[in-house]
Order: sequence, then structure tokens, then C-alpha cells
Amino acid sequence: MSTITELIHSIPVDELTGAIAVPIYQTSTFVQEAPGVNKGFDYARTNNPTRQTLETIVAQLEGGHTAAAFSSGLAAIDAVLKLLQAGDEIVAVDDIYGGAFRLFDKVYAKFGVKVHYVDTSNLRAVANAITPATRLIWLETPTNPTLKISDISAIADIAKAHNCWLCVDNTFASPVLQQPLLQGADIVVHSATKYLGGHSDLIAGLVITRTPQLGAEIKFYQNACGAVLSPFDSFLLIRGIETLHLRVKQHSANALAVATYLEQHPAVGKVFYPGLASHPGHALAKRQQKGFGGIVSFTLRDDTEEAAQAFVTSTRYFKLAESLGGIKSLLCHPAAMTHKSIPDEKRRAAGVADSLIRLSVGLEEADDLVADLEQAFKRAGKKLTSSVPTY
Ligand SMILES: *Cc1c(COP(=O)(O)O)cnc(C)c1O
Repeated sequence: MSTITELIHSIPVDELTGAIAVPIYQTSTFVQEAPGVNKGFDYARTNNPTRQTLETIVAQLEGGHTAAAFSSGLAAIDAVLKLLQAGDEIVAVDDIYGGAFRLFDKVYAKFGVKVHYVDTSNLRAVANAITPATRLIWLETPTNPTLKISDISAIADIAKAHNCWLCVDNTFASPVLQQPLLQGADIVVHSATKYLGGHSDLIAGLVITRTPQLGAEIKFYQNACGAVLSPFDSFLLIRGIETLHLRVKQHSANALAVATYLEQHPAVGKVFYPGLASHPGHALAKRQQKGFGGIVSFTLRDDTEEAAQAFVTSTRYFKLAESLGGIKSLLCHPAAMTHKSIPDEKRRAAGVADSLIRLSVGLEEADDLVADLEQAFKRAGKKLTSSVPTY
């Protein structure tokens, strides 16, 4: 689906009542006329009309055949991993989302699934990591928090040549900027908690498949394992998706304004934003994506955790919190928050410097956000230089 018109009109009017908003079917079971004779629904873990509407909308949005909605992004990732068996191997992007790493490393390793982490922006590294046991290639593009870009269609070709699946975690780009299934990926997953929901008011996950066969397998695990999205959260997610195109467009415009401002600031070290010509993935992102998204990371010239702490406690509009993709701007300090469990040396080697700050640029006026950062640099500078409190 390419246009906002198509998206809006993929949200059905309720046939029973004419309700223009999607009804919330808050029910656990459905009355049957005779055993096995029903209106397409029997038990709400297996299927629920509100969730089904969401899944239909999302499958279209990603250009896929089947979508399945889960109670979190990690539950969605978990469902994809259940396609594997003991002895199977995964080739995964090295700066993978921490929760996915934990799931691979602490849960699936126990069941005999092995993961090779490589820099997937290097196609040769991807090809070299594949063994006869590889069943799945796992990408995030752009990655968190350095926004590394990997070539989806080239890696889809590698996957095909080796008879394995390509799964893309499309959380950061959203289907507005990038539709991996149309570029040859087999599976897309989302933490719908982020841009798809868009309002920081729910936890949800999605799996979308290109083929009906894979879709049927994912649906089997959705029902068999049971981490389904509730009818109310399905409704909230549909409501968020209604404005996805507008939001992502504005997030991207604001993020470019913020990144451009940061790049010329004397207190800033490096700026990571695929929309900047200085970003190593810029040319590929320009080709592969319809826009550059709402996440910007940067380091400070004073590359210390103290300097970053002073900065992240000096903003007014940017609120200090984990997560991203909501209407309000957020910032976080990965070394002390999302990446705290990674040993310092490993974290630095992955490009996550001590002072790196990640911004989720919200939907406020871009000028106000730039002004907030400007005053935060001044306040943080004072905090760092004054050991005596100023009364
Ligand atoms: C947040 C996130 C997840 C996990 O999603 P939850 O909804 O928090 O379970 C997975 N991948 C990426 C890229 C994320 O940002």
C-alpha cells in the first residue's frame, strides 16, 4: 500500500452497524449454532474480529499476505524464532535490539539455536557467515542507536541463494519509509509499541509474511503459544496506524532539522542520521527508503558519561525515557540505560560511545526542539563547570 488514501480506506466500516470506527469485540468466546458451525470465530485466542481487522490492515500496509498481532514486539520475534529447530543457525545484524539479543542468547541458545552476529552493512560478511545450517538472516535497518543501513534486496538475494529466510525488524523505518517484503524479504516484524502505535500508550508486536505458507505457520504459533494482542490494544493500534503516514513524515522532517542543527554545534562530536550526507549509509538509505525517520543519535566532544548525564537532565521538551516513536520527543543515554548490560569495550566497539545520546524526535515544532537542545547545551555546560552550587 503506497498512499494514505489506500490506508484510510483499508479500515473497514462495520458491516453489522455501519460504525465508522472499528468496534472492540471484548469477548472471549463466540456462540455456535452447532458444534463447529459458527460465524468464523470460536475462541478469542484463535481469532477475534478486532484483531483480525488490525491484521488485515497491517498485511496490506506492509505489502504482505498474512499478518499476526502479538502482545509485544518480543512476542512477535519469539514467534518467528519458533519456525526454527535445534541445530539451526541465524545470521544476525551485530547491533541488534538488546531484547532480541537476550531472547536469542538466553532462551533460544538453550534449545540449540546458534546465532552469528555480523556487520550486515557489509554484504561479504553476511555471505561469509552462512553455513549449511543457516535457516534465517535477521536484519534491522536502520539499527539502534547508530542507524546503520543494510541493503535489504541484496541480502534477500543472498538468503534465496542459500535457501534461508530473511526477516527484517522494520520498527525504526515503519512501512511508510520501507516495505521489506516488496524488496524480497520473507518476514517483517514490528515493535508496534513504537511508530505504528505512535502515542506511547501500548505494547504490541506484529509479524507479516510474504507467503501464505509462512503466514499459516506464524498463525499456528500465535494460537499454539498464545501471546495474542487484546481487542482493546488492537483497537488502539488501528487508531494509531490511521495517522502513521502523517506522523512519520513530520517525525522525519523534524529529525532532519535537529540533525542539521546538531552537526554544526561546537559541543557535538559525531551525528548519526541517515539523512545527513556525512552518514556512511546515506546513499543506500536514499535509494532504499522514502525518508530517513525520526531517530537521531549524537556524541559530545566531551565524550564522557558525566557530560551526557548533564545533557540528558537539562532538556525540557525532550523527556528522558526508553522507547521511541511517540508524539512527544524523548531522549536516552544508551551507555547508562538501554545498553548498560553490554560490557564497556564491546559497547564502544559497536559505536556506542560513552557520551552517545539518542533522540526520538517527536511532533513538536522543529524550532522549539532546536531551541530546547540549545538551552540544554548551555545548562549542561554550567552543570559541568560549576562544582559550587549557584544560589
Ligand atoms: C522496542 C523494540 C523491540 C521490542 O518490542 P517490544 O514491543 O518492546 O517488545 C524490538 N525491536 C526493536 C527495533 C525495538 O525498538
